[in-house]
Amino acid sequence: MSNQDTVLIVGGGPAGLSAAAGVAAAGKKAVLVEKEDVLGGAPILSGYAKLVPSGEWAKDAIGRMISVVENDSGITVHKNTKVTKLDGDVGNYSATLSSGETVQAGAVVLATGFTHFDSINKPEWGFGTFPDVLTTTQMEQMVGTGKITCPSDGRTPERVAILLCVGSRDRQIGREWCSKICCTVSANLAMEIREMSPETEVFIYYMDIRTFGLYEDKFYWKSQEEFKVKYVKARIAEVTKSNDGRLLVKGEDTLVKRPIVIPFDIVVHAIGMDPNDDNPEISNTFGVGLEKHGYIERAEHYTDTCGTTRKGIYSCGAAYGPETIDDSISQGKAAAMRALSDIKG
Ligand SMILES: Cc1cc2nc3c(=O)[nH]c(=O)nc-3n(C[C@H](O)[C@H](O)[C@H](O)COP(=O)(O)OP(=O)(O)OC[C@H]3O[C@@H](n4cnc5c(N)ncnc54)[C@H](O)[C@@H]3O)c2cc1C
Ligand code: SF4
Repeated sequence: MSNQDTVLIVGGGPAGLSAAAGVAAAGKKAVLVEKEDVLGGAPILSGYAKLVPSGEWAKDAIGRMISVVENDSGITVHKNTKVTKLDGDVGNYSATLSSGETVQAGAVVLATGFTHFDSINKPEWGFGTFPDVLTTTQMEQMVGTGKITCPSDGRTPERVAILLCVGSRDRQIGREWCSKICCTVSANLAMEIREMSPETEVFIYYMDIRTFGLYEDKFYWKSQEEFKVKYVKARIAEVTKSNDGRLLVKGEDTLVKRPIVIPFDIVVHAIGMDPNDDNPEISNTFGVGLEKHGYIERAEHYTDTCGTTRKGIYSCGAAYGPETIDDSISQGKAAAMRALSDIKG
């Protein structure tokens, strides 16, 4: 079915869905290969709640993108599938899929995204030890159920702490980057918790707040002024348990330079965006370079937008580094445009 008039897109998250829709809208064929059994990428696979900045539930917003792709006859979707081999060159690639099928394509778009930081790699902050220490994705899933309770015993929490920069901006564990969206996601999550459970106080522990661009007033100021979320500038040392079973967040208040210990019922890790665990394999299969942290390496930014180190292979979204959904979608469209210029006709 596919031939050199086709663009092969790997990864069915926001970036890949957008790229596929872009190729089809130009009247060309797209083949979308997704390793999981559902489309939608991280927002669907991890069950995000309401997205920033739109405020729309992830399942509705990304669900619409999935419907567009699944209902377009110009797009063929292979789920539960990976590309195992890529032969040929720009304008004339031949990809072998894990199903044994082959796809002929003029160009390739790698929309393979990121992997959530695994909080087990920050053991002193209690994840994996205490059941009431959760990640932002787990807390978003709880918000999705409509009820905020402590996993350990089902009580309504009096106090929730959200710890920012878990697995980001942390040189000790080899994560030097800022994950870009987690300050805003956390401010939004704090407001959702307050709205759903007004008796629960929410504290956000931060090094710096990076609610960039228009997110500053919509999330940072709004969370404080309208939802009474408290911000504490601190360095966290550890999360332990008190004698009465509550969680103790211990650290230093870096504004007043004093040690602080505050009891909480739930502690949330605002986890960052690691490079996709598959990237070494992707680099091998597709012959593209990785940058020093392990994300896909960009070609020259200004004249080779969406390029990689190999001609005819493009990338977009969180495959390049921490990225928002809105920007991943825009980059998916830009990658589709670059790919279209490589295919016949
Ligand atoms: C806790 C948290 C909350 C967030 N909330 C928001 C938010 O509210 N708003 C916002 O703008 N951003 C948010 N983000 C960021 C958002 O998750 C990303 O911007 C978005 O998922 C990037 O889309 P993507 O398509 O590039 O990558 P992904 O969503 O990671 O999708 C990549 C897809 O590729 C597939 N894939 C990976 N490797 C392979 C392979 N080898 N072969 C085939 N398929 C493969 C994956 O299964 C996945 O379906 C959040 C991030 C985190 C960590
Ligand atoms: S966006 Fe905020 S929480 Fe996320 S890594 Fe950057 S500073 Fe830390």
